[in-house]
Amino acid sequence: MLGQMQSQPLLISNLIVHAERHHAGTEIVSRRVEGDIHRTNWGQVAQRSRRIANALDALKLGFGERVATLAWNGYRHLELYFGVSGSGRVLHTLNPRLHPEQLVWIVNHADDRAICFDMTFLPLVQAVWRKCTGVKHWIALCDADKLPADSGIDGLQSYEAWIGGQSDTYTWPEFDENCASSMCYTSGTTGNPKGAVYSHRSTLLHAYGAALPDALGCSARDAILPVVPMFHVNAWGLPYSAAAVGCKLVFPGGALDGKSVYELIENEQVTMAAGVPTVWQMLLGHLQQNGLKFSTLKRTVIGGSACPPAMITAFNDQYGVEVLHAWGMTEMSPLGTVCTLKNAQVALPPEEKLQVRLKQGRTVFGVDMKIVDEAGNEQPWDGKSYGDLLVRGPWIIASYFKGEGGDPLRYDAAGRGWFPTGDVATIDADGFMQITDRSKDVIKSGGEWISSIDVENIAMAHPAVAMAACIGMRHPKWDERPIVVVVKKPGAEVTRDELLKFYDGKIAKWQVPDDVVFVDAIPLGATGKMQKMTLRQQLKDYVLPGL
Ligand code: AMP
Repeated sequence: MLGQMQSQPLLISNLIVHAERHHAGTEIVSRRVEGDIHRTNWGQVAQRSRRIANALDALKLGFGERVATLAWNGYRHLELYFGVSGSGRVLHTLNPRLHPEQLVWIVNHADDRAICFDMTFLPLVQAVWRKCTGVKHWIALCDADKLPADSGIDGLQSYEAWIGGQSDTYTWPEFDENCASSMCYTSGTTGNPKGAVYSHRSTLLHAYGAALPDALGCSARDAILPVVPMFHVNAWGLPYSAAAVGCKLVFPGGALDGKSVYELIENEQVTMAAGVPTVWQMLLGHLQQNGLKFSTLKRTVIGGSACPPAMITAFNDQYGVEVLHAWGMTEMSPLGTVCTLKNAQVALPPEEKLQVRLKQGRTVFGVDMKIVDEAGNEQPWDGKSYGDLLVRGPWIIASYFKGEGGDPLRYDAAGRGWFPTGDVATIDADGFMQITDRSKDVIKSGGEWISSIDVENIAMAHPAVAMAACIGMRHPKWDERPIVVVVKKPGAEVTRDELLKFYDGKIAKWQVPDDVVFVDAIPLGATGKMQKMTLRQQLKDYVLPGL
């Protein structure tokens, strides 16, 4: 017997229709790259997203074609989230922090047809646009009078002129909820970046899950500040959850320093903010230096890297702000776990409570997780046994764009596919997961990935280098910074500075290692693989320059 409920596809357009109908006047505030504060609301965002849909029709962009953004968090980016996906095209959020060559590779791999970019990225676009061979339309997110006459980019138009001439009447199409809605590349694993392709269904289910009280707890009474960029897994899905609950959104643009973020929190009466630890480090530094307090902020979601204990304590004890330590991945839309206490833990003494809060937390309903040993045997949830962390659920990828890297899943005896996260974790009896290590060979600095393979390959291209291993070292501000450990070829010479100079122009500046450590030998395993755990152990007393 089938259920007798109405069958309606879960589509991103439903979100903006709902936000307009029920929360039209609720504000969306953005610090623009122009420097000023801009105010709009859900009603206007909805209207302008319909103009975008008409403008895309006018460009004759087909269903499923990719429209990319190269933009900070702001209202225009939000409009594109709904206008592009709602009309059946796929929103591809590009990470402007990548090296230009990597960006070109990603744009071409994704077959992007149009790119909408913030004016701060004009020099970057000028440098790469000729190499992005499939891109037919370049749109600058600015007013018509801000468009430079001599940009050198063929056919460049301003966003306001582009959508300004369009009608704001548009009927959102209905289609299969499993169609692609947006995509985001991750360089979190080895090899070329891979695209995670979200569907309308996965995005809506994630929006429901993320908004739950024991997840990010979003409500119409909130003013949410996503400091996490909209090019990082859709700002952790917050724009969608915000539309579902109809809360106020506050966008920081490109100004992520402590002073700018603090001013926005206070002036806009922000109740909840979300970002990586590095951003909160800058914010706390600003508060401490200037003896400031928060008057409205109740919660901060901290994820993307492990949240240091001192940060949890500072927010909680000095500022009365609850830290929601969260864990997830690009491949998981991204939310996997959030650390919110269970009833029995609320009365624990502060030190014990802190030990719980340091964990990455419990799964949000919709995500299942387990830890396994090398043979795939599930490990007990005792808080001590650790293993590879595997996940499954309707907002976790089944495969990468174009099938890159083959089938990423591992199958259990029942034939169910689990996605291996590359994280190593314990899970306690209450279901709180804690990351203890990473099995993937990457470094995360300030919330952004650095491929150790790329760093090693460049060093290896130097004529004096016989072997190179890139490892991450703890850093108080950036969480991790890369160093490269090098064995020189017999009789060959290269200095630290010469080798660091060798990285110029080959990777983004922030990905260049902080130091070179010369050694006689790098420990190798039985199969000849570099033993980085042993290497890290050997360098346990090493201190990064400047610390
Ligand atoms: P990304 O795909 O860029 O979002 O990176 C996901 C990876 O970041 C995870 O697999 C972890 O290695 C790391 N990560 C994310 N959140 C946390 C956290 N709260 N604590 C420790 N590592 C984290």
